[in-house]
Amino acid sequence: MTALPPPTLRLDLDAEALAHNWRALDRLSGSARAGAAVKADAYGLGASKVVPILAKACARDFFVAHWSEVPEVIAHVPPSSVSVLHGPMSDADCAFARETGVRPVLNSLEQVARWRSAGGGACDLMFDTGINRLGLPLSAVSNPALQGLEVETLMSHLASADEDVAQNEQQLARFREIAAAIPAKRRSLSNSAGIALGADYAFDLTRPGLALYGGVPRGELANEIRQVAHPRAALLQVREIAAGEGVGYNAAFVARGPMRVGVVSLGYADGFLRCWGGKGALRSEGADLPLLGKVSMDMVVVDLAAAPAVREGDWVDVPYNLPTASAQCGLSQYELLTTLGRRFRR
Ligand SMILES: *Cc1c(COP(=O)(O)O)cnc(C)c1O
Repeated sequence: MTALPPPTLRLDLDAEALAHNWRALDRLSGSARAGAAVKADAYGLGASKVVPILAKACARDFFVAHWSEVPEVIAHVPPSSVSVLHGPMSDADCAFARETGVRPVLNSLEQVARWRSAGGGACDLMFDTGINRLGLPLSAVSNPALQGLEVETLMSHLASADEDVAQNEQQLARFREIAAAIPAKRRSLSNSAGIALGADYAFDLTRPGLALYGGVPRGELANEIRQVAHPRAALLQVREIAAGEGVGYNAAFVARGPMRVGVVSLGYADGFLRCWGGKGALRSEGADLPLLGKVSMDMVVVDLAAAPAVREGDWVDVPYNLPTASAQCGLSQYELLTTLGRRFRR
């Protein structure tokens, strides 16, 4: 087939900022090493781009959620550096882990038994200390089924590390109890926000995700973390409209005077959801281009008053400072990243 013409959407990844964020989080983890959560295609940014950059920055521990996410990651790093958070739901999952050499995270006594009967080997072990999602209950700590298990990383996950609440200390106390009872090469509790809770929460390995990609879950990280994802969209058409004319579906915006407006190749199918309708602005060389009317599937319309020189085919910036964008549109910083669609060239 002939080569595809260039797309009208790009997701520019600032590799320097990504490596910087990992190094900052590694430093903030104190005596612990920072790993990297690269599940969900590295939070939507593209695992095949992100993983080599993090590996070069010296990350040695990678976390995915699904088994389907393994091949893309082990194309770039040794399988023994990859953990699969959802754990083995079947014998096929166990066989896949043993053949590839990635580690399952065992989340229940059932998964422990399944892994052992498949032949076992190095694994990670997740305890639930209060989030009530995945993980063995505290009551399983002394269960003989865990004896002799080859635990590489013993872990738990914080539910509210982005807030100052008693639950953090409660989970920490429970995790200490578990860590004292279960032999493991390494212990790991903190996600991005947990790293900002300080040295007590760091143990041997931290598991940042969001903050690697420019998310700021706690104020302490604001000056440490740089923006990584820079979405850009092309201007498809410039139009002059007259007073009284509506823009987009249901004429949710009506011009009060003559206007020069731009139709941009960015819509809710690209993860630029309808919550942005009439809110905020795209940018062109520092000038604000306010969003007009509803977000369509493949397009938005912006006011070009502040950028008289832009023309069809030019790129405009989609402001994606995550804490700011999140406050503006109401989506979480996680959602802002993971919903970015497949039509962006990464
Ligand atoms: C997603 C995830 C992380 C990373 O969390 P962030 O809040 O993105 O830093 C760490 N650990 C586990 C178990 C996870 O599921």
